[in-house]
Amino acid sequence: MSRTLQLYQLQSIDSEIDQVKQQLAQITAQLGESDELKRANAAMDAANKKLRQAQTIMRDLDLEVKSLSTKAANEEKKLYSGKMSSAKEAANLQEEVASLKRRQVDREELLLEAMVAVEEAEETVEQAQAQLSSATGRWSADQQELLQEQATLQQKLTELENQRPVLTQPISSADLKLYEQMRPKKGGRAVAAVKAGVCQGCGIAIASNHVRLARAGTDILTCPTCGRILYVP
Ligand SMILES: [Zn+2]
Repeated sequence: MSRTLQLYQLQSIDSEIDQVKQQLAQITAQLGESDELKRANAAMDAANKKLRQAQTIMRDLDLEVKSLSTKAANEEKKLYSGKMSSAKEAANLQEEVASLKRRQVDREELLLEAMVAVEEAEETVEQAQAQLSSATGRWSADQQELLQEQATLQQKLTELENQRPVLTQPISSADLKLYEQMRPKKGGRAVAAVKAGVCQGCGIAIASNHVRLARAGTDILTCPTCGRILYVP
């Protein structure tokens, strides 16, 4: 096997390894919480928070209404007990009872509004819960698929990496070093095939005597334009 064919085959496997690694990196980036799931979780948290707030407001108003009602009833009882020392005191008390009742009516209206707000917040929580569970369902299906794909690619990578030494073994250390140094500088392609006298690395035609020498494969010849190692099939 010619030196350049050996390098060309090594490059094929290295390109494949690069590709698999790239796919694995993409999968790693996709694993974990999806944006949809993050949004659904955030919506659920917000809906729960709003519900708790609405419930607190409703409870506070309910307590206030009850307390005003008790207070008004007590004052009223005092008023009708006839134990007032003066007419002025009775008038004051009457005024206070009326004021307590006005406040009670006012708070009762607010309580009704608060009850409606709680109902609405409960509906929002229900909707958020439904969206969250469908997002979770989609997410876990996707994750399973991704994990499966990841395992397949990992296995492929291991196979390729095990295959690589078989290909590098017959290559001289000098050729291997040249290839390894050149590869990152040439966009992952240190070796370019020549087809119909044209370098496939840069697309420029190569002098025929140069092609002839490269075809022999005994010496390493590079493309005068892009500098890649030439392999002539
Ligand atoms: Zn070239």
